[in-house]
Amino acid sequence: MNGTASKNQQDPSVQDPNHKQKVEQQLLELQEENRTLSDLFEEAITRANSLTMECEIARLEFEQVFNSIGDATWVINNEHSVIRINKAFLNLLGLKDKESAVSEKCYDLLPSKSCRTPDCPLEKIRKKKQRIEMDEERVIKGSMTVPFLLTAMPLFGLTGELVGIVEQFKDITERKRYQEALEEANKELEQLAAVDGLTQLANRRIFDERLKEEWLRMRRERQPFSLILGDIDFFKRYNDYYGHQLGDECLKEVAACLKNCVRRPGDLVARYGGEEFGVLLPNTPSDGAMHIAETIRLSIWKMRREHVRSEISDSVTISLGVATGIPSVQTGGSGRLLKSADKALYASKDGGRNRVTAVDM
Ligand code: GH3
Ligand code: MG
Ligand code: MG
Repeated sequence: MNGTASKNQQDPSVQDPNHKQKVEQQLLELQEENRTLSDLFEEAITRANSLTMECEIARLEFEQVFNSIGDATWVINNEHSVIRINKAFLNLLGLKDKESAVSEKCYDLLPSKSCRTPDCPLEKIRKKKQRIEMDEERVIKGSMTVPFLLTAMPLFGLTGELVGIVEQFKDITERKRYQEALEEANKELEQLAAVDGLTQLANRRIFDERLKEEWLRMRRERQPFSLILGDIDFFKRYNDYYGHQLGDECLKEVAACLKNCVRRPGDLVARYGGEEFGVLLPNTPSDGAMHIAETIRLSIWKMRREHVRSEISDSVTISLGVATGIPSVQTGGSGRLLKSADKALYASKDGGRNRVTAVDM
């Protein structure tokens, strides 16, 4: 009796005839749940694998694109250390593999004047957070200086903070060479041409030719020949203070003014040198030439072009020297007229500038 009672207590199926069925049901449910969980787990692993794959493909593609860039390109972090470098860059630096460059400082691998100054591209980008472009010379392999067009772009992290820069270096040695050759050719062309490119006055070559021709003509005609040389006062200071561009503008204005003062068909106004002008006045005696020189001086002073660095005026002024002679066998060649005008000009400079000095040969 007791035995039956204790068996009934131990076996729930005796109390509940459906117990076995319930347990089987629960087991089935657990098995089902387990299957779902392992399905989910498998799915998660497959997804993770495919993400890793995608990541790897993206990394491979990026690596190939990065290395196919023809210009030397690297990524620099905020501590000036190289974190990525492409093949073109390794070739440029003569390095075998990227391990020789990664973690090195950019200023050690490719130094320039701007390194460790506010002009360093990283420092500039830290301030402006914008792409910059500049021409810069860099020293390669410790000795060779190469001109580059440097492009630097900011590199932002996931939260938008600046984590470094991407820098690209285009070797512009060839471009510089062409530029220099072009400038040289332009200079030669200007020499061959008759007109000075900046002032549109006759150039020095024409001035020298006409001086000789007119000298001989005046000798034949036994007529007085005058020559004026003018030189802008303190023009170096003008350039230093106002800049070369405004210096050029000033030269143009002075040239136009000179041209206005000299009207006879036989006269010639030329740009003699940088800020020096020459005026040839055939058939003109000393007093006439002196009058023209004084007209030039006054009209330039009346332009009132500001020149705060001049020691003698608050505007641009010119000093002039006039020489006059009647050419003959005794007077010698035209060079003497030029020398006399030069002497007179320097007498004007010595005498305080913004004045005219005349000499007779
Ligand atoms: P001074 O009164 O004694 O003549 O002094 P200066 O400064 O005028 O004379 P200097 O000969 O020392 O300097 C001439 C300056 O002219 C040097 C250069 O800066 C300037 N210059 C020469 N050619 C050009 C040019 O084509 N363009 C410009 N902007 N400046 C020129
Ligand atoms: Mg001069
Ligand atoms: Mg001068």
